[in-house]
Amino acid sequence: MLLKEKIDEFKKKIEGDVLIERFWREVYSTDASIYKFVPELIVLPKTKQDIQKTIKFARENKLDITCRTAGTSLAGTAVGKGIILDFTRYFDQILEIGPDYVKTQPAVIYDDLQAKLAEKGLFLPPVPASSRACMIGGNVATKACGGGAVKYGTLDDFMLAIEFIDADGDIVNTETGQGVEKFKQKLEDLRQRILNDKKTMAILNRRMDVQDASTYNIFAFDRYSNTNELIAHLMMGSIGTLGIFTEIKLKAVPKPTEKPVSWAVYLADLYQVDNFIKEVKRLGCSAVELVDRVSLDLTRNCFPALGIPTEAEAMIIVQFDEKIEQTLKEFENSLKNFKLVGEAVKDPVKMEKFWEVRKCLLPLTAKFSATTKPLVSVDDVGVRVKDIPDLLQDLRKIFKDLNIKVALYGHAGTGTIHIDPVIEASTKEHVKIIKKIADKVYEAVFKYDGTIATEHGGGRCRSMYLEKEWGKEVYKYLLEIKQIFDPDDILNPNTMFNTDKSKIYDNVKIPIKPLGPEEWPCMECAYCQSKCPAWITAKKGETGPKQFKNLIRYRVLNVKDNDPEILEMEKQIKTCILCGNCTKVCETIVGAKLKEFNENWREGKVRE
Ligand SMILES: Cc1cc2nc3c(=O)[nH]c(=O)nc-3n(C[C@H](O)[C@H](O)[C@H](O)COP(=O)(O)OP(=O)(O)OC[C@H]3O[C@@H](n4cnc5c(N)ncnc54)[C@H](O)[C@@H]3O)c2cc1C
Ligand code: SF4
Ligand code: SF4
Repeated sequence: MLLKEKIDEFKKKIEGDVLIERFWREVYSTDASIYKFVPELIVLPKTKQDIQKTIKFARENKLDITCRTAGTSLAGTAVGKGIILDFTRYFDQILEIGPDYVKTQPAVIYDDLQAKLAEKGLFLPPVPASSRACMIGGNVATKACGGGAVKYGTLDDFMLAIEFIDADGDIVNTETGQGVEKFKQKLEDLRQRILNDKKTMAILNRRMDVQDASTYNIFAFDRYSNTNELIAHLMMGSIGTLGIFTEIKLKAVPKPTEKPVSWAVYLADLYQVDNFIKEVKRLGCSAVELVDRVSLDLTRNCFPALGIPTEAEAMIIVQFDEKIEQTLKEFENSLKNFKLVGEAVKDPVKMEKFWEVRKCLLPLTAKFSATTKPLVSVDDVGVRVKDIPDLLQDLRKIFKDLNIKVALYGHAGTGTIHIDPVIEASTKEHVKIIKKIADKVYEAVFKYDGTIATEHGGGRCRSMYLEKEWGKEVYKYLLEIKQIFDPDDILNPNTMFNTDKSKIYDNVKIPIKPLGPEEWPCMECAYCQSKCPAWITAKKGETGPKQFKNLIRYRVLNVKDNDPEILEMEKQIKTCILCGNCTKVCETIVGAKLKEFNENWREGKVRE
């Protein structure tokens, strides 16, 4: 039987939806990363049985499975060649909010969960910058985090329990203990070997103070003696390669009673960063963000009214969320000890703008020029705070020598530095620079015993550097973890492990042919998605602003007028009601005008 016929049979067996049309497969072929893989089919499961049947179907037909929630992955882990399992339509419910916890399905937007928690006086602090778009399943799978980690810890510190479906299709629940027995002996055996391996334990002990999301949470073997807890924490940062999450239970903490207040200062000397951060940590700050000189130049060009001084080496945004009046007095007093450029920025309206700019710095890089795109590949490195100035100097030099513009910024309180180089996007040759960039950047990072990922998770753009980061011994244990949960490698293969460096530029979505200034700046951050009536009406799924844009691009560039799918494809594009919400949201980000792009296409103005 042909795969198409088998899919038709499979479709009849499940309660959820199955998409096989070529245009839908195109829509699901990208995420916010630089990679593109056209899947064979997309399954939107309605029940756990649907997921189990999908695993059986995948095994029978030698297809792999890639889970997906909002698709904001920057490491190419929400795209794959086999089956995409999209949770957004039916697994989007908050199941329970208790006095100090929340139990949720995977496809709940972080900000929506936060709003529901706030109604009960609770909150989930490690807020990622993409919180208006990304979803809890993806957050757990990437070990997502944000500035809040400096005070409250990473998302891993909030993990209580998880239910997932394993690679055999069995349900595992670390709260009830269902399905745990199967893994117990192997994990306990591995635990003993890790704990007795002096070299490995020395590496783990040494690296405990580097915030890491590059791979499986190997620290959990030492931290959690109970197998159920160990499994829950191993799922954190597993990028869909160990199990398929269906329910997640996270700790929630009391929401601060005062409204957080932020100030920004401009440092005249980069080497003050360490002492400055020590001081604001001592004062109990709830976030510390750093924006490097090169990113400040971009921000100044885009928003001249912000009055960013040209002499600043870096801007630091500091937020406090308790005992605010008294703390701000102390903070103001301590500023005398630092060499600053100009006065501290205190105006709440201006600070709101600074936060918005900080959260949008990646999409903002699209504003560097009309022919370039951010080459997201070394986006999430981390070192100890004391090493930030040296690392930034190294990075500035690397990109200066390569003659490549770059944005450098991050959650300085925990040593995270985001790196977004911007390249010409017109030929595939341009993309090959990615390997050179990665070689040089990671060489610098490893000099400081740093990591290739602090919060965006491992993935296609960095897995070839994982062994170098951890060394052969630890790497061997990481492979064993995968072997225990998914020995046949059907869950998101080639994302966590890949030793072939040339794969770094395989299957990239660049070159991209511009089809007009309305669509070009869009980098698929999905920040406008939850404001799109078409996305909401379709019960999410994958109908929304960036999806319409991609469909139009596909229609114009690849589809002949006699294509049998054309009517359905065009009908889907026209489910955009031209409300303009996406254009409005993007006004303050990169200024993509996806409503106008859709309108232009309908009027026949978008051509190859
Ligand atoms: C502009 C921008 C800013 C960003 N800022 C931050 C930031 O500050 N901090 C941060 O941490 N990240 C940030 N990110 C990265 C991204 O938002 C995070 O990685 C986020 O956690 C991904 O969530 P998602 O719902 O989009 O997941 P997806 O992209 O859909 O998937 C991410 C991973 O989760 C897996 N997954 C999804 N659902 C399941 C499931 N049910 N079971 C098992 N695995 C699953 C997928 O297979 C994939 O490996 C940013 C991204 C963008 C575009
Ligand atoms: S239109 Fe703007 S906000 Fe929407 S996905 Fe594209 S870049 Fe992001
Ligand atoms: S204009 Fe279309 S794509 Fe944009 S928000 Fe409205 S319905 Fe969605």
